[in-house]
Amino acid sequence: MLTTKIIEKKVLIILGSGCAGLTAAIYAARGALRPLVIDGNQPGGQLTTTTDIENFPGFPDGIGGYELVDRMRKQAERFGATFVSDHIHTMRQDGNAFFLDGVTTTYEARAVIVATGASPYLLGVPGEAEYFGGKGVSICATCDGAFYRGKEVAVIGGGDSAVEEAIFLTRFCPKVYLIHRRDSLRASVPMAQRAKENPRVQIIWDSVLAEVLGNGQHVTGLRIRNVKTEAEQTLPCAGVFISVGHRPNSGFAAEILPTDEKGYFISLADDASCSPVDGVFLAGDCADSSYQQAVIAAGAGAKAAIAAERWLMRVVK
Ligand SMILES: Cc1cc2nc3c(=O)[nH]c(=O)nc-3n(C[C@H](O)[C@H](O)[C@H](O)COP(=O)(O)OP(=O)(O)OC[C@H]3O[C@@H](n4cnc5c(N)ncnc54)[C@H](O)[C@@H]3O)c2cc1C
Repeated sequence: MLTTKIIEKKVLIILGSGCAGLTAAIYAARGALRPLVIDGNQPGGQLTTTTDIENFPGFPDGIGGYELVDRMRKQAERFGATFVSDHIHTMRQDGNAFFLDGVTTTYEARAVIVATGASPYLLGVPGEAEYFGGKGVSICATCDGAFYRGKEVAVIGGGDSAVEEAIFLTRFCPKVYLIHRRDSLRASVPMAQRAKENPRVQIIWDSVLAEVLGNGQHVTGLRIRNVKTEAEQTLPCAGVFISVGHRPNSGFAAEILPTDEKGYFISLADDASCSPVDGVFLAGDCADSSYQQAVIAAGAGAKAAIAAERWLMRVVK
């Protein structure tokens, strides 16, 4: 039984206004589909939480994360996309229609592009939030590694991503501490071996990050606690990369869309834009655990919009 009122009925709804959802909106609006974009709790998505984006094509001097998504949004609006501030808690299907239950409104659509992203896990330790995004605490070595050229940094985590990030950072940094709470890495054996053999990587076992230290402007070190002995030490370093995984924003669609064991939406083997449910298309980090970059999410948004447009041309007479 519906607890909210249907006030919006659309041909195409796009869930999420990160770079995947916004690019999908530009393409769908240019295709005269007049999409409705539902913003979710984080209008603009993850890029709004960071300062400089140096690797998005077309901006040789970099661009602020907020400015980049704001430009995308304006571009989508110019072609006729509309936006609504709401967060979907349940997605259902009834016959040919999809129903999206928001806070006070239920939305109905013939096709849906799901671009709800994935949120990086943080640790919640003192100093982490203060120095997050451009001041020394990062969640992405590919994005921010080059800012730390010649400096010592640390990576927190012990899985494949953390180890890969640590090895990647040795291209720029003379020393990379890999801080892991256990006495063996969770990463695959070859990956773990590469880290152990890399002279620039120093693994600190059985240890957790207790506090990010800084001078008010940027990170200057870390307070680390050994979980077996409770002994603490201070590591001087200029940056820390938190690499303890992402939580895909997929729970709202549990009724109809399958996910993998980590919660990422599963797409069709021959087309990453299509979910196994006819009429539901996928874009960006919510369906991509391995790349998670703005330009890739944007590209996936464009593909999903084109796929949705072709599908709608076939089924809507
Ligand atoms: C701090 C930081 C720095 C980064 N730096 C870079 C960088 O320099 N270069 C780079 O290429 N990448 C960078 N990234 C990664 C990049 O931000 C992501 O890959 C990209 O934002 C993914 O886009 P997306 O649209 O798939 O998801 P997101 O940006 O996560 O957007 C998801 C959208 O879905 C909405 N949503 C979620 N759940 C719901 C729901 N239930 N109902 C409705 N809406 C919902 C959210 O509100 C949001 O609008 C960085 C990420 C972070 C966190």
